[in-house]
Amino acid sequence: MRSLTVLGATGSIGASTLDLIRRNRDEWRVVALTAHSNAAELAKLAREFGAEVAVVADEVHLPALREALAGSGIEVAGGPAALIEAAARGADVTVAAIVGCAGLAPTMAAIEQGGIIALANKEALVSAGEVMMAAVARHGATLLPIDSEHNAIFQCLTGNDHAHVRWITLTASGGPFRDWSWERLSAATPAEAVRHPNWDMGAKISVDSATMFNKGLELIEAYHLFPVGLDKLRIIVHPQSVVHSMVEYRDGSTLAQLGPSDMRVPIASALAWPARMDTPCAPLDLAEIGELTFRKPDEVRFPATRLAREAAQAGGAIPAVLNAANEIAVAAFLGGQISFTRISAQVEDVLGSYAPPPPGSLSDVLDVDTEARARARVLVTST
Ligand code: NAD
Ligand code: MG
Repeated sequence: MRSLTVLGATGSIGASTLDLIRRNRDEWRVVALTAHSNAAELAKLAREFGAEVAVVADEVHLPALREALAGSGIEVAGGPAALIEAAARGADVTVAAIVGCAGLAPTMAAIEQGGIIALANKEALVSAGEVMMAAVARHGATLLPIDSEHNAIFQCLTGNDHAHVRWITLTASGGPFRDWSWERLSAATPAEAVRHPNWDMGAKISVDSATMFNKGLELIEAYHLFPVGLDKLRIIVHPQSVVHSMVEYRDGSTLAQLGPSDMRVPIASALAWPARMDTPCAPLDLAEIGELTFRKPDEVRFPATRLAREAAQAGGAIPAVLNAANEIAVAAFLGGQISFTRISAQVEDVLGSYAPPPPGSLSDVLDVDTEARARARVLVTST
């Protein structure tokens, strides 16, 4: 029996993870389940899985959680410190599935315990970069990517030497606006942006997918996870989302991982690693899919991947600035305050105005994040 903590249990990745655990109940003991504010859903999950502790990050919801779990014997807690304490209980596997840089401190607390971190929370790695990778090495933690592209690359690299890699190619669906003109993009609505053609995901990553910031963040994520150098990382648009990414070696062999567009596949790969487990996902029917197509990304209509590549090249604190500016811009777009095309414009403006020195610690990263958010918020209100 192995122990599990899910940071962000009430989200899309949290639900997919717990669906797999539900099918293998006798193999897992649940330590901590956390959520931002949905106390009712969190309490329901905590009872179902017999969690040791349930934590709401927003303390305002602690009384509701306490009431919902009264008499259950499950510990309840609230607030950022409680979230970190729960993450530090040292589960064998921690699924890091909080959205945004808000997941950074708890993810770092889990890393410090030296177990397996199944990472979905790409914003945490993008922001903390070297600081997080150094902590992983220092504490002997195992970082397993569950972002589908990185999980694919991880699988394609297994048993091979990084020194022989010619290219790593991240595939991108291109999102719901892949074929839209600039004029149409500037009038895109939040409802249109969150309607992804292939994947059912949380609102923030759905908007990131529409702007291509998701692929930009993933480029930086790959840069840290697979140290082959930025010049060996490429992006290709693949509308069907069947090939999840590829690795080409010096001899001309390209290895790819294919699968259905269902996050339970990469999550299962991390939960069972280095073994394999069953999933309820429909087998891949290539004859039914018929065609797999590929094309170059358009960085004029979608500047996000260019901005991310430049941020990765600059290194240090710059990716944290990019991430924070994007989080604020996405929230402003979802709130109807700025247009879709302002998202990347605003991120570029923040990057142009703020270039802090490289962070040496978690608290340095969080300071950069806070300052970049403040600058991005000023732009939202002045637009
Ligand atoms: P989601 O919005 O569905 O869920 C987010 C979870 O984080 C929820 O449990 C929520 O309560 C919690 N949360 C939100 N804000 C928080 C805060 N300030 N403090 C503490 N907890 C907070 O998001 P999601 O789609 O599940 O994505 C989660 C992460 O996984 C993101 O980083 C995303 O980029 C990544 N990811 C998601 C998918 C996908 O298919 N959904 C695929 C690849 C990677
Ligand atoms: Mg992905």
